[in-house]
Amino acid sequence: MYQYKKRQVTPRPDKELRLENGRLGGYFSLLLGFSSLLAVLAYLFPSYLTTAELRAIYNIGDLQYILKYGMWLSLGFGLTNFIINKKKRLGFAGVSLTLIAFALAANVSPSGSTEPFPLAIGVDWLVIALLGSFFIFTSLEKLFPKYRDQVVLRDEWKTDFFYFCVNHLLISVFLLFGNFVVSSFDWVANPTLHNWVLALPLALQVLLLVICADFVLYWEHRLFHEHKKLWPFHAVHHSVETMDWLAGSRSHIVHTLVERSLVLVVLHLLGASKVALDIYVIIAAIQAIVIHCNMKIHWGVLKYILVTPQFHHWHHSSEEPAIDTNYAAHTTLFDWVFGTYHMPKGVWPAKYGTTKPLPRGYFKQMWYPFRKLLG
Ligand SMILES: [Zn+2]
Repeated sequence: MYQYKKRQVTPRPDKELRLENGRLGGYFSLLLGFSSLLAVLAYLFPSYLTTAELRAIYNIGDLQYILKYGMWLSLGFGLTNFIINKKKRLGFAGVSLTLIAFALAANVSPSGSTEPFPLAIGVDWLVIALLGSFFIFTSLEKLFPKYRDQVVLRDEWKTDFFYFCVNHLLISVFLLFGNFVVSSFDWVANPTLHNWVLALPLALQVLLLVICADFVLYWEHRLFHEHKKLWPFHAVHHSVETMDWLAGSRSHIVHTLVERSLVLVVLHLLGASKVALDIYVIIAAIQAIVIHCNMKIHWGVLKYILVTPQFHHWHHSSEEPAIDTNYAAHTTLFDWVFGTYHMPKGVWPAKYGTTKPLPRGYFKQMWYPFRKLLG
């Protein structure tokens, strides 16, 4: 009988973001300065640094308004860091980035056409996702922490932040690749099925999308775990040893491309309405972040039905009974059906990560599966 242990998280007061130690002001200034500079660059070079699909959704006027206040806040936070913190590096960096953003915004006018470049870099997507995710999910983790002593800037946060940036900047690559794969499967599309799905009420369409996507994701995920040659590509995602909202960003680009394209193909073959597809994408994106969060919420009976942080944390555990379990992404249905459900009552994992350590850092991890294939 396996003896489950409690996870030990050591308090690290020196790493905590607090107003009184100046680190909160410093890092806020840096975050807002970095975002402001990116946002100004996206504004100046819209054709190369903004995403056509996103521009259709957001209002540039609203964003400029937020940007202006973000820049002033960055200067204010930087100032608190200068006053309080002995090391003034953070505040200095944040204020410098903001001042460069101010100077560029004041002296340079937007150049080139706004005609979207097919492989534009998703700088706008990065800024929106970074600020949105940071404020929403860090707040949730602070309000409902599983481990109160776990710091926001935990070990290897820089690696996962780099993953987060790359994943968002490459949005056009993911979209183009996804569209290409979907269009190659057009010949399988069945108008009778499309009409049947379209006739369903919206809620049922969304439910159908969730279940079908979950089925595909379950088997794709299981294959990446259980096939020797595929595992190194997915092991990258499992190499993370601290779970929080940023941890899920760590994923090998090959695995991300395969996973997203497979789901897109299935969703498009079903032929649900655009609204249903949009709702599914939003649910999936939020759930993918939430399940990695350092967050404990009482889900009631839903915890038996939905993939929750506790359920997915077990998937990331390196403890023997949890290896190769809890594959599903949305509901626990297919783990029940195919015998991989693992949720010991009231217990959370004591250890996360892979049983064999992986190299650290983005580029070494990108190379790792190929090295395994060649060696
Ligand atoms: Zn996995």
